[in-house]
Amino acid sequence: MPYEFPTLKYAYDALEPFIDAKTMETHHSKHHKTYVDRFNAAIAGKSELQNLTGEEILSNLDKVPEDVRMAVRNNGGGAVNHSLFWEVIAPKSGGEPKDAVAEAIKAAFGSFAEFKTKFSDAATTQFGSGWAWLVLNKEGKLEIMKTSNQDSPLSLGKKPVFLIDVWEHAYYLKYQNRRPEYIEAFYNVVNWPRVNELYLAAKKCFKGAGSSCGCGCA
Ligand code: MN
Repeated sequence: MPYEFPTLKYAYDALEPFIDAKTMETHHSKHHKTYVDRFNAAIAGKSELQNLTGEEILSNLDKVPEDVRMAVRNNGGGAVNHSLFWEVIAPKSGGEPKDAVAEAIKAAFGSFAEFKTKFSDAATTQFGSGWAWLVLNKEGKLEIMKTSNQDSPLSLGKKPVFLIDVWEHAYYLKYQNRRPEYIEAFYNVVNWPRVNELYLAAKKCFKGAGSSCGCGCA
């Protein structure tokens, strides 16, 4: 089955003024679409990959045929990372997290403010194109990390809970070289209720959900 290019649940201009409409349109309809198309081209005809989700494929890159492994790592990563990225942002959002993820962030980092400082620092200092992440590791603990290009924490056995795209295509039209300004504005559009769901799903995942969670962590 081909990987599905997701429709956004909000309009391209819905995240203004924090993320501008032109950036959203280009990012989703051009950049993300290209990753999805190239991912599907890479896995077409590879029967061993046909029944796996994108997450499962990225979680098991060593099982991907060598002739397409780099294409899958780059374009599969681009496809799956962006699908998740659109979910953790939404209009009329921001503020502070609530519920289980808020408690877990406090336990792991001391406070939301401390988390924000560390997460922003990871996003700011990612050299070149990449992502900053909040992930759940195999011990069930939250960690902040960064990856280059389209590499996914799934390939390192970690489950994404929250992420920010720091490729220039994510902010350059509005913020040019001012990445820290984009990162600070980004907190105004974070969909914390969705992040909480991702956290709960990740917790369940590492408690032996087997393949039912669809993330390949079994
Ligand atoms: Mn991007």
